[in-house]
Amino acid sequence: MSDHSTDLAHNIRKAAAQLGFAAIGFSAPLPQTLAILRATAMVHEHRNGEMHYLESRMEERADPSLLLPGLRTIISTVISYNYPLKRQAGLPKISKYAIIDDYHTVVRSKLEELLAEIEILVAEPLHARITVDSSPLLEKNWAEEAGIGKTGKNTLLKVPSAGSYLFLGEILLDREIPSSKFTLPNYCGSCGDCLTHCPTGALVEAGKIDASKCISYLTIELKREFTAEEAAMIGDWMFGCDLCQEVCPYNQQTSITANKAFKVREELVNISMERVLNLTKSGFRELFYGTPIFRIGLRRLKRNARAVENNMKKSGTI
Ligand code: SF4
Ligand code: SF4
Repeated sequence: MSDHSTDLAHNIRKAAAQLGFAAIGFSAPLPQTLAILRATAMVHEHRNGEMHYLESRMEERADPSLLLPGLRTIISTVISYNYPLKRQAGLPKISKYAIIDDYHTVVRSKLEELLAEIEILVAEPLHARITVDSSPLLEKNWAEEAGIGKTGKNTLLKVPSAGSYLFLGEILLDREIPSSKFTLPNYCGSCGDCLTHCPTGALVEAGKIDASKCISYLTIELKREFTAEEAAMIGDWMFGCDLCQEVCPYNQQTSITANKAFKVREELVNISMERVLNLTKSGFRELFYGTPIFRIGLRRLKRNARAVENNMKKSGTI
């Protein structure tokens, strides 16, 4: 690899740090047999619930060059949303990532800025594609390949100094950048706190999730009405679930905190059930537009709120 390529990698890292990315790494788009086997096993074992989109486009997952002709490098990045959050007891819970601006927008705009910097550094025309949860790409796998972090027993990527309150985003590039693979240790060791604290048994074994039992899936991805069993499973979580991150010791010792671009929507931090259940369409738009919650729509949010209200009444919380 030429000095010029090494300098390029160094300068891209510098630009990423200035933009507030928590980590960045580069990998060559080589076949990822193990990751594909894991992705297909999830589908064959019906652990994807009703997320049928995970059953399609396996060819692109296996070969990301189908997403960008001439692909030479996958640039993996992570941005932290780790901010202090104090929840009031007796209120419906919202996952930390949803009380801030929608990551699809924020991370994409950060990656656009980074790509503009790369274009200046390279000083020649580039073909690139930015993806933020928007392409059939095995994001965690590529982040591991690039040496950014390791997937924990809770199936989430953990990054040194940044923990797991992170958003992933990638730039696919038709330019070779030296790959940055480091051997990272397995951070979990003998810990199993996430498996013990998952209230629904969704973490069926270390690093293996049954999405159909996961509160995040039930409250965000599932489109239909709940069965009685599903409604009971969500407990007091109205949107998402942070339990397997809250108990993770690696999130207690992070030095990297939320990127300044993420503004906390204070009015959502301790929102009451009554307010959600009485929302009109325009009230919903006013309150949630620009957050990930807006994506599920008012009908599904009220479905969640009704289930949480029943659960909290049954448990005597309200
Ligand atoms: S998000 Fe909640 S329900 Fe899903 S695996 Fe983690 S602890 Fe379990
Ligand atoms: S809680 Fe423990 S086992 Fe689970 S991801 Fe964190 S370190 Fe790993």
